[in-house]
Amino acid sequence: ADWRLALWTLFSVLLPVLITAWCSFQRSRRQLLIRDIFRKSKHDWHYTDLFGQPSYCCVCAQHMLRGAFCGCCGLRASERCLKKADQRFVCKEIMTRGAGAAQSSIPHHWVRGNVPLCSCCVVCKQQCGTQPKLCDYRCAWCQYTVHDECMVDCLKTEECTFGEFKDLIIPPYYLATINQMRKDKKTNYEKVVPYSRKQWMPVIVLANTRSGNNMGETLLGEFKMLLNPVQVFDLSKIAPAKALQLCTLLPCNAVRVLVCGGDGTVGWVLDAIDEMKIKGQERYIPQVAILPLGTGNDLSNTLGWGAGYAGEVPVEQILRNVMEADGIKLDRWKVQVTNKGYYNLRKPKVFTMNNYFSIGPDALMALNFHAHREKTPSLFSSRIINKAVYFFYGTKDCLVQECKDLNKKVELELDGERIELPNLEGIIVLNIGYWGGGCRLWEGMGDEPYPLARHDDGLLEVVGVHGSFHCAQIQVKLANPVRLGQAHTVRLILKSSKMPMQVDGEPWAQGPCTVTITHKTHALMLYHSGEQTDDDASSLSE
Ligand SMILES: [Zn+2]
Ligand SMILES: [Zn+2]
Ligand SMILES: [Zn+2]
Ligand SMILES: [Zn+2]
Repeated sequence: ADWRLALWTLFSVLLPVLITAWCSFQRSRRQLLIRDIFRKSKHDWHYTDLFGQPSYCCVCAQHMLRGAFCGCCGLRASERCLKKADQRFVCKEIMTRGAGAAQSSIPHHWVRGNVPLCSCCVVCKQQCGTQPKLCDYRCAWCQYTVHDECMVDCLKTEECTFGEFKDLIIPPYYLATINQMRKDKKTNYEKVVPYSRKQWMPVIVLANTRSGNNMGETLLGEFKMLLNPVQVFDLSKIAPAKALQLCTLLPCNAVRVLVCGGDGTVGWVLDAIDEMKIKGQERYIPQVAILPLGTGNDLSNTLGWGAGYAGEVPVEQILRNVMEADGIKLDRWKVQVTNKGYYNLRKPKVFTMNNYFSIGPDALMALNFHAHREKTPSLFSSRIINKAVYFFYGTKDCLVQECKDLNKKVELELDGERIELPNLEGIIVLNIGYWGGGCRLWEGMGDEPYPLARHDDGLLEVVGVHGSFHCAQIQVKLANPVRLGQAHTVRLILKSSKMPMQVDGEPWAQGPCTVTITHKTHALMLYHSGEQTDDDASSLSE
């Protein structure tokens, strides 16, 4: 009986192990199959474990919680039906092909089922997608929705109008026409403006999926749905300089670029645009709008786009803002740092500055913060911890006072004129209105008269601070900065010791040197006349 017992024990232990092994083998095989379909498909398939709204498979019409969806046309399919769905339905065509590709219209691209909640039928004006089943249609281009009952044959052949965002969309036949013209070696693209409209201002979306948690990824999908996928770029896969070459296929002085990312990403794109100027593509230069990701984006805030976006406003509203925004100029500056010494063979460091340059406590804060973020990156993924750590370093630095008697260590020249410095710990040179994540530094309490500061007048504002505690007081409008003046050229000579410095939040420790800040160029930006957020209120409300 012993061997029987042993056999049963072995069996009861082995059985679950075998079942688990079999299941995981099946699962990995299935995942491999799905990935294979994803890779070969013309659709932009993604997999989700939970759909955000009730969803039905486009093949078998069954309700499903998880499955695949196309990021361009919005098709949804269960795992089982994915292959069939992929073969049966075509995706949004970015460029029309075949005979008659260069015509000037396309029919609607109807996708059945899973229409957005709260959408309205274009025929009967009643709400669509209210029934719990695969029903109703949405056009992947104009976003119109129609009931099953209201769908008539003429709607199936009717010309698509491209809906509300027709002025921003690059129609697929436009690219087909341009392609044909390039083959014929013609370059007068201006004559091919679609739907004979004067207001056409095609938008190019450049999204940095690495900034602002997963926001960039989500936005990328939403913009691909609303626009032509060809005009939406992921900056983690393609550099801005390459993406911006699309401008050369579009009419001059019409293109608008929407940068989704932090101030750093905006600087990256502006550098790429400056490169276009050098390449002699000046007439193709686009205007730049910003959708700020992350927090405390002072440049974005100055231009009216807010300090950080976390999905408060629907993407459609952002596109409307881009259409309505006005053109504006932004000064960009060259910061040159030359080390002291006769035998200095190293080249001077050169930066391009959009926001601000500083020496002293706020640069030290950024430097400490930076060093710790490098050491323990996982700790710094939360905004609230970031704020707390930043505050901690701010106060700790306040006790140490490493930047004491700055006025004895530096000489400051504004437009060639030596400035007599009072007792200071830090000097900040500003191009834009906001500093330090939502603080209007130049204005201070705003109780005494101060010269107007603009970001397109070729002038920099220079202020001094008495330390990080003073900085904090200015932030909550309890103190005024020491206004040192405005200038076209700023020169700062650090005579001795090592000091923290920063350009646009990029800090480093610097020995004796000469810092020269001169005007570099103008960038063409778009200004949104919405509300500006002081003190980064959006992140505190979380
Ligand atoms: Zn199905
Ligand atoms: Zn698709
Ligand atoms: Zn349509
Ligand atoms: Zn209807």
